[in-house]
Amino acid sequence: MTRIRLHDTMAREKRDFVPADPARVTMYVCGPTVYGRAHIGNARPAVVFDVLARLLRHVYGEDSLVYARNVTDVDDKIIEAARAEGVEPAAITERYERHYLEDMGALGVQPPTIAPHATGHIGEMIAMIARLIETGNAYEADGHVLFNVPSDPDYGALGRRDREAMIAGARVEIAAYKKDPADFVLWKPSDAEMIGWDSPWGRGRPGWHIECSAMIETHLGETIDIHGGGLDLIFPHHENELAQSRCAHQGAPLARYWVHNGFLSMAGSEKMSKSLGNVVTPAELLAAGHKGEVLRFALLSAHYRQPLEWSEALIAQSKSTLDRLYRSAGDAAPGEPDPSVVDALADDLNTPLALSRLSAIEDARVLRASGALLGLLGDSLSAWFQGEGDARIDALVAARADAKQRRDFAAADGIRAELAGEGIVLEDGPGGTVWRRT
Ligand SMILES: [Zn+2]
Repeated sequence: MTRIRLHDTMAREKRDFVPADPARVTMYVCGPTVYGRAHIGNARPAVVFDVLARLLRHVYGEDSLVYARNVTDVDDKIIEAARAEGVEPAAITERYERHYLEDMGALGVQPPTIAPHATGHIGEMIAMIARLIETGNAYEADGHVLFNVPSDPDYGALGRRDREAMIAGARVEIAAYKKDPADFVLWKPSDAEMIGWDSPWGRGRPGWHIECSAMIETHLGETIDIHGGGLDLIFPHHENELAQSRCAHQGAPLARYWVHNGFLSMAGSEKMSKSLGNVVTPAELLAAGHKGEVLRFALLSAHYRQPLEWSEALIAQSKSTLDRLYRSAGDAAPGEPDPSVVDALADDLNTPLALSRLSAIEDARVLRASGALLGLLGDSLSAWFQGEGDARIDALVAARADAKQRRDFAAADGIRAELAGEGIVLEDGPGGTVWRRT
């Protein structure tokens, strides 16, 4: 069996991946807060963990993976957006979750096994908060419930921040009711007009971090194999998830491997983020005529832990490489993936190496299957070059020549017939094939 190695943020090194139960590999990735359109930087973790999911299924079996990606559908940014539009929060979250799924679908991201929603797990969150109060790790103050950071001697193991950074990261709102400035909110009060739920501590709503701990416990168990997300989630979000879960579960670790992807930036700019205003969305890029698969290829062109600089040149280069790969793949049916591509992905998801190895594959069937492992080369040749006029016809003619060379005459005749149906005649001569419109 292929040995997968993953860089574990907790261990600060690459480790052999050994799932607790190879028949049920568990992975949780923090998903979107649905109050606006995702930008291409938000798409990076979705694409990266989609490739990891494909690799895990390839190695452990199609039904071996339980992959959960949550939807944060209660949050102060959602409440603000709903107020600004004068609609219920659900109108905002339903709209932007739908857009998120459309955008990620266009990038070839398969839906996760489970997509739990925060608002569907309020009871589980309340139960976990009550347990944390019982164990002495949380306390009620002024309608809030807070996690008491000094009560957990292992707090900080994941992010390894110093205390000042932890306090800054706790995003102090009103510090008066906190026992310690680093304490973070598990539950907060909602006023009468605000979305809220009844709880032992009054009507309110959860803090952000508790939802993931409660949903992981509900759907995947106390300790999962892989917890993933962007680098920016290590602190405070994942540190807080880890503390909550560990304290609620008698010290059981939340995850056995912590996997984090790097940032995406605009060429010559900082990290792409809504607050900096330097964002470009998949929706805009698709509307500009770029194919989703080209954007996916571009997102996988750098190693997931490295920063990725987004540019028009990167998109153009990705398009031309994919055009070439599609010409090589022709209309062959997928066979088995090339071991060199599997090995590149198994080595901490080395997608740049895997992509370069695609170019060296000569067998069209192997190329198709190897591309599929990366979520690429899934279109027919004709569909890929659709709307590109002569470039598409040239590609089909080249694919027919390849098919003839490997004595796949059925495929070659299929291409000739397809073009004939469009009024295009092929003439084979000693210098190759020329085509003309009738
Ligand atoms: Zn989370």
